[in-house]
Amino acid sequence: MSYDCIVVGAGHNGLVCATLLGRAGKKVLVVEAAEQVGGSAITREFHPGFRVSAGAHLFYAMPNSLLRDLKLEHYGLQWAARAMRTTVLQLDKGPLSLAVGVADEETPGLGGSEGLALASYQAKLQRFAKALVPMLAAIPPRLGTEDWSNRLKFLKLAWQVRKLGRHDMREFLRIIGMNVYDLLQENFSSSAVKGALAFDAVLGTNFGPRSPGSVLTLLHRMAGLQATGQNAIAQPQGGMGAVSEALAKAAQGAGVSIKTGLAVQKILVDQDRTSGVQLQSGEKIGAKSVISNADPKTTFLTLLGTEYLDTEFVRRVQHIRTQGLAAKIHLALNSAPCFTQISAESLAGRLIISPSMEYLEKAFNHSKYGEYSTAPAIEITVPTINDPALASRGHVLSGVVQYAPYALKGGWENQRQRFMETVIDTLEAYAPGLRKSIVGAELLTPVDIEREFRMTGGHWHHGELAFDQFMMVRPVPGAGQYRTPMPGLFLCGAGSHPGGGVAGLAGRNAALQVVAEDS
Ligand SMILES: Cc1cc2nc3c(=O)[nH]c(=O)nc-3n(C[C@H](O)[C@H](O)[C@H](O)COP(=O)(O)OP(=O)(O)OC[C@H]3O[C@@H](n4cnc5c(N)ncnc54)[C@H](O)[C@@H]3O)c2cc1C
Repeated sequence: MSYDCIVVGAGHNGLVCATLLGRAGKKVLVVEAAEQVGGSAITREFHPGFRVSAGAHLFYAMPNSLLRDLKLEHYGLQWAARAMRTTVLQLDKGPLSLAVGVADEETPGLGGSEGLALASYQAKLQRFAKALVPMLAAIPPRLGTEDWSNRLKFLKLAWQVRKLGRHDMREFLRIIGMNVYDLLQENFSSSAVKGALAFDAVLGTNFGPRSPGSVLTLLHRMAGLQATGQNAIAQPQGGMGAVSEALAKAAQGAGVSIKTGLAVQKILVDQDRTSGVQLQSGEKIGAKSVISNADPKTTFLTLLGTEYLDTEFVRRVQHIRTQGLAAKIHLALNSAPCFTQISAESLAGRLIISPSMEYLEKAFNHSKYGEYSTAPAIEITVPTINDPALASRGHVLSGVVQYAPYALKGGWENQRQRFMETVIDTLEAYAPGLRKSIVGAELLTPVDIEREFRMTGGHWHHGELAFDQFMMVRPVPGAGQYRTPMPGLFLCGAGSHPGGGVAGLAGRNAALQVVAEDS
């Protein structure tokens, strides 16, 4: 049987892409190597009776307009919690709860000038993030063409910044290339506020607060939060896998066929054009277009093969920085963790261990030398507070742990247990008694993330999100608009603009590009 389009991978972006292609009248097949759909947005058991969002664990990046367009709530998506607050845990003082990057609400416990500074900073960065929202949602223009539609796209992007007004535009251009450390030093004196705001700039990246470009990653995340609207930050009922399941239903509703447990071994080429895929079983399936949700390195170097690409393009792909620095910890607990002085509302929200920028920078320092952090920064959720059905008894703790380098000196095999103990010790310091309540534990290092989710290097964004891998040069020049040098082959995953997070925008934009090329 032959298809109009084959989507390689049923990550959330692959599913979004397939749905929109199906709705555009294409005959679409999605082929997923794993047994379940969702890629790194899945819910699975990690200890008998305990389920967790195994990769992404919080929802904050998908624009509300896309969520509505895909009718995800109609296809069964429900929320266990929305508008979750962020609480910074501190050892020496009480925790501080903030609405990070979403609204300039009042912050209890942060009075006087610091409270005013936070409100004004949040308002300013939200204006800047708002200017980025249309850029993130658009197919990036191509560099160096005379084509007027591309020139128009550039003008539209520049207009987003110009529209900010003279004062804001200057400030935007001043800070966009800065590091978040310097920006926060300019604005705040409270260590906890700075630690919390800096954490959001480095989460899922290879950055510390002093790394250039960390304001860009902060604004990228804030733009996502803003587009998500009332859902940010949210916990889907049933975990992140529920988002992927609703997406799969939306795809099937659009006539898409989804096959799981089938790995694509090769993207086929006939007469200088993509002609379909070959599965690991040897079966060949024909298609006019192949859209890859696999990361760019896998797509070009493994599935397509370098023999079809010019040397310069291959070199660029080989140089995409894909080594992940975030690990994931899952704990099965026989009782709810008791974080010191934490309110019930905070425990149901997002907790972070990033008490200061210095703490965060020190945690990052180790990774420069191929070591894991001995005092890691952690984003924590206790999803069973909002969604008790995730555990047959007790509670689940899910944590994203910065910093755990993919290429750990000496390898992960002999150091995994020690790092897990370090992470648990760190948590125990903020939640005394936690260790005793653990009945099961799982640590996913970037190497495990690479293996489980088939993402090269285990990188959250399928490739670092940085100025040299951003927008029209993401993942590399020559593949920045979802199309690739091989006619009929497209990219639709996090490695493409606008990067990772469960946003669905790469999938949506890729579908628009495929349809545009066909018309
Ligand atoms: C530890 C961690 C925590 C995170 N936390 C959050 C969070 O809280 N919130 C958030 O928004 N984002 C988070 N992210 C980021 C987010 O999970 C990813 O950026 C996003 O899910 C990527 O989606 P995708 O569809 O582009 O790719 P993926 O989810 O990587 O999907 C790609 C799919 O392609 C399949 N595939 C690959 N090769 C083949 C092949 N040869 N044949 C068939 N199928 C193939 C894979 O099996 C996979 O299913 C986190 C990421 C990590 C690693």
